[in-house]
Amino acid sequence: MSEMKKAVVIGAGFGGLALAIRLQAGGVQTTLLEKRDKPGGRAYVYQDQGFTFDAGPTVITDPSAIEELFAAAGRKMSDYVEMLPVAPFYRLCWEDGSHFDYANDQEALDRQIHARNPADVQGYQRFLAYSKAVFDEGYLKLGAVPFLSFRDMISAGPQLARLEAWKSVYGIVSRFIADEQLRQAFSFHSLLVGGNPFATSSIYTLIHALERRWGVWFPRGGTGALVNGLVRLFQDIGGRIELNAPVAAIDTRDGRASGVRLEDGRRFDADAVASNADVVHTYDKLLGHHPRGAAQSRALQKKRFSNSLFVLYFGLNQHHKQLQHHTVCFGPRYRELIQDIFKGDTLADDFSLYLHAPCVTDPSLAPPGCGSHYVLAPVPHLGNAPIDWAVEGPRYRDRIFDYLEKRYMPGLRSQLVTSRIFTPLDFRNELNAHVGSAFSLEPILTQSAWFRPHNRDAELANLYLVGAGTHPGAGVPGVIGSAKATAGLMLAEGA
Ligand SMILES: Cc1cc2nc3c(=O)[nH]c(=O)nc-3n(C[C@H](O)[C@H](O)[C@H](O)COP(=O)(O)OP(=O)(O)OC[C@H]3O[C@@H](n4cnc5c(N)ncnc54)[C@H](O)[C@@H]3O)c2cc1C
Repeated sequence: MSEMKKAVVIGAGFGGLALAIRLQAGGVQTTLLEKRDKPGGRAYVYQDQGFTFDAGPTVITDPSAIEELFAAAGRKMSDYVEMLPVAPFYRLCWEDGSHFDYANDQEALDRQIHARNPADVQGYQRFLAYSKAVFDEGYLKLGAVPFLSFRDMISAGPQLARLEAWKSVYGIVSRFIADEQLRQAFSFHSLLVGGNPFATSSIYTLIHALERRWGVWFPRGGTGALVNGLVRLFQDIGGRIELNAPVAAIDTRDGRASGVRLEDGRRFDADAVASNADVVHTYDKLLGHHPRGAAQSRALQKKRFSNSLFVLYFGLNQHHKQLQHHTVCFGPRYRELIQDIFKGDTLADDFSLYLHAPCVTDPSLAPPGCGSHYVLAPVPHLGNAPIDWAVEGPRYRDRIFDYLEKRYMPGLRSQLVTSRIFTPLDFRNELNAHVGSAFSLEPILTQSAWFRPHNRDAELANLYLVGAGTHPGAGVPGVIGSAKATAGLMLAEGA
């Protein structure tokens, strides 16, 4: 073991930022290198004509994990960012005109469940108890544990077996709840982290308990304000961040990572290197010159990757008061559409959407009286469906605008001030995401925990991974948990 004085983290997504903060706070001089002109990764921010658009995560759960990061650096979150509660958590809407407000209010939940199917009130209680048990085992105990050896997996085995982790999210929900729309309401959550509710382990029902326990939050100023708060924290404790700094290669010497080289030729020496970039990109492009990189890249490319997303950001000269902050607009099909998204080779005719209306919580994200929005549709990744998004993107945008105008936002087109799209091609080209996946490896049981790329590389002992492609996986709480696991290894091992 050698002493670790200097580390480099590649990529300033939530995972990279959280790791960099923990390392710097642990006494390691840390440099964070980000390809793009702004930090945040999937949580990038677009600013346009007075509108602020958070590009990605908007449902912020588990603020305690974020608070813990500030505490690790001896600071208080409230000095950097203000977290606002969101209520209801989400409004879920169906094409028959009905809706369900998912809130942290048991009485309101019971009333709505009862109106749909009285027997499901009891069923929901049993589902909640199950989800809490999974949360205790899967999140509190295992969420930030680095699964480096198969022994770790075996020791988690009895719990996983007791919780029937081989069952799917939808399978477990259906055991407790009979009404089909309620089944959708309590199973769609895994989609937030790239998991197919019909294939992803029932472990992911823990998201339900997590939201009930800590609530759903939104930073004042948007998710970008949280990213900026983390950057400021990192710099305040002496960390160095370089933007517009795409890494071209991870250098190696004597079976160890020795530093990185940027595309502009600059070199950064380091005692340890951690990558928050896409895992395939990391092994294929950054380490492809080394036999380990080439072999790992081949192995990873055979894995299953999560779906991609089509995201449409738009600013209106009106605020739509009828909207909630978060709305899920279910289309006519659920199981079949999800099958098309995860397995299909074309774009389905229908869609289900998530609609973000942050001005409900924070009007400062748009000019006075206006509304800033985004809407996303899960779509297949480029490996399954090689769609020419340069052609299809504008058409898809128009279909989505028509649908929203007809059902949710009357007058939308005449109120439009600005819009932009982000397609699977952008996930691939801008974020270096393999096949344009929005969430990296699909979170199925055989690609989770020990079966996911490890937080430390198995051969290059001072090369580490952090973010959605490693344990525990995608989502803001997931990647912040991965940073805790990776930082724990790096600080303990001294690299
Ligand atoms: C539209 C959308 C909505 C979402 N909504 C939610 C939500 O509401 N709640 C939630 O919890 N999660 C949500 N997620 C998931 C969540 O955003 C991600 O799982 C998480 O932010 C990923 O973080 P990460 O640390 O893996 O890094 P990423 O955000 O993927 O960042 C990786 C960074 O590495 C950089 N990089 C890549 N290659 C290089 C290179 N060669 N050199 C230098 N830098 C490089 C990239 O530019 C990027 O900044 C959403 C995702 C998307 C796309």
